[in-house]
Amino acid sequence: TLGLRLSCQPKGKLRPEHIEKAFVQLPARAQLLLKPRYISVDPYMRTRMQPEGYDYIERWNAGSPLSGWTLAEVIASNIPAFKPGDLVVGHLPMQEIIASDGKGLAVIPAGSDPTAFLHPLGMTGFTAWVGMQLIGQPTEQDTVLVSAAAGAVGSIAAQLAKRLGAKVIVTAGRADKRDWLRHKGFQTVLDHRHADYAEQLHNAAPSGITLNFENVGGRAFTAAIEAMKANGRIVLCGLVSQYQSEQPRQSPHNFAQLGQKRVSVHPFVVPHYLDYWDDFQKFMAPLVARGDINWRLDTISGGLDSIGLALIGLLRGDNLGKRVVEIP
Ligand code: NDP
Repeated sequence: TLGLRLSCQPKGKLRPEHIEKAFVQLPARAQLLLKPRYISVDPYMRTRMQPEGYDYIERWNAGSPLSGWTLAEVIASNIPAFKPGDLVVGHLPMQEIIASDGKGLAVIPAGSDPTAFLHPLGMTGFTAWVGMQLIGQPTEQDTVLVSAAAGAVGSIAAQLAKRLGAKVIVTAGRADKRDWLRHKGFQTVLDHRHADYAEQLHNAAPSGITLNFENVGGRAFTAAIEAMKANGRIVLCGLVSQYQSEQPRQSPHNFAQLGQKRVSVHPFVVPHYLDYWDDFQKFMAPLVARGDINWRLDTISGGLDSIGLALIGLLRGDNLGKRVVEIP
């Protein structure tokens, strides 16, 4: 079958030629054969291509096969728990046909929307839940800032904070994204890409941010640190604006303010929290079933050939909602 691999590690921005198609030999006797329906593209994929700085996950070198969170259909099975026609989700290689032993795959329960498992009930929903519900735990006393809130993780994290009664400030880098956020009920919507962002933030929260859910990094993070109230906390979810940088470990120049203001920083990566997966499903599945969570897929068509451009666009901020690639 055909699959995707990294042709070489990018220096600076990812370009289409960094991802190539190659022949993959399937095992003669696979326990499960799967056909992907949707493949998720995610910012962390770019960090896997960096030569250093992101050691929580296996690196992609020249020639490494690409993989990602995938919704797939079972086309043949020797495992009783999986039947042809079942839809499954899990982390899988980006291939036209996938051989699997079934480990780490979950069958989509009958009656639920399978595409919800790409986002609110998938890894991005899980990330938002771990960061906000488990670590951040805002209350009515909090003024919460969620950056890139028209994106996948941010949109869910912001809604969780609101449900917990906090005052929520959200940001997005494009006018239509900010309109979407207002339409979904957020009153304070700022532009983290604007030159005046620090001032906008100060005006929106004159007495300071008590909880910052950081997704963006760079200038936006510098402005958020500036706006933190004493004894506040930062949930460090991601630094997407830095992932294509050749010096990935640059920190905001005002980091020293954190000590001065006694702000605590809570970095996390979801692979360390997988024991909480069932708790997450118990929490989120009823909310999604009742339509109490707003979520939107940003679907790119065109199959495996579109993965490179879909990821390049995601890293530029083209997406509104969770970006996925549909495999015909
Ligand atoms: P999103 O759907 O939020 O897409 C990325 C968004 O980031 C873009 O839409 C864009 O929004 C913003 N962005 C992209 N490039 C830049 C840039 N150069 N400068 C500023 N903003 C930029 O992706 P996810 O929801 O999947 O991820 C959001 C964050 O969560 C990322 O930092 C990611 O790494 C992190 N994450 C962390 C995990 C963990 O385990 N800790 C797990 C999963 C995700 P806009 O147009 O509004 O600027």
